[in-house]
Amino acid sequence: MISIAIDGPAGAGKSTLSRKAAEALGFIYVDTGALYRTVGLKFSKAGFDTELNCDVNEILKDTTVDIRFVGGEQRVFLDGCDVSEEIRTPIASMMASAVSAKGEVRAFLLEMQRKLARENNVVMDGRDIGTVVLPNATLKLFLTATAEDRAQRRYDELVAKGTKVTFKEVYDDMVQRDYNDSHREIAPLKQAEDAVLLDTTGFEAEQSLELILKTIKESI
Ligand code: C5P
Repeated sequence: MISIAIDGPAGAGKSTLSRKAAEALGFIYVDTGALYRTVGLKFSKAGFDTELNCDVNEILKDTTVDIRFVGGEQRVFLDGCDVSEEIRTPIASMMASAVSAKGEVRAFLLEMQRKLARENNVVMDGRDIGTVVLPNATLKLFLTATAEDRAQRRYDELVAKGTKVTFKEVYDDMVQRDYNDSHREIAPLKQAEDAVLLDTTGFEAEQSLELILKTIKESI
């Protein structure tokens, strides 16, 4: 099986580009951030905030997260309910970042991600795919852009979906998540030594996609 690991900070365009690259290659696209968001939503529904003052394992014992592909599109299910839209709110983002710092949560989601890559050709995106989840991935890419660029893209996406947010909220959320994700003790966001660094600052989506596809095709 072929696996392309794409890591990088929030809003670097990973999900859109990974989805399109997977489509072009005929691979499955696995958005691992959606899994952390789903777990984050569970804790939020259980009444906890980002402090997570609770026994994490107790909550996880009562949690099922499923990933299904409907018409090639990934949908995520929390305890049997499709939460693919609900996980996209700013609160779900912050809760995802909080739960993702917990070793118990990372262990809970690890095997599901590896199994998908064992059984399918995948483009998988996240924060630790090249470093932890798929250390033997066929190709590892680390996608980045400046915080301003990334916040602008995420803001445009949210506004297009009708979500009411300000640019400042999106920017602050992004900087905070970058900090949390790269400073946590377990599986922090970091470029794998053997990953190819791609900086898409100032690029249109089309240019970034071209660059990614070219890099992938050269290596597989
Ligand atoms: O990619 P996305 O922004 O949807 O991810 C939401 C959060 O999930 C990230 O801020 C990060 O804290 C966490 N995450 C992670 N490891 C991954 C994917 C996402 O810790 N592989």
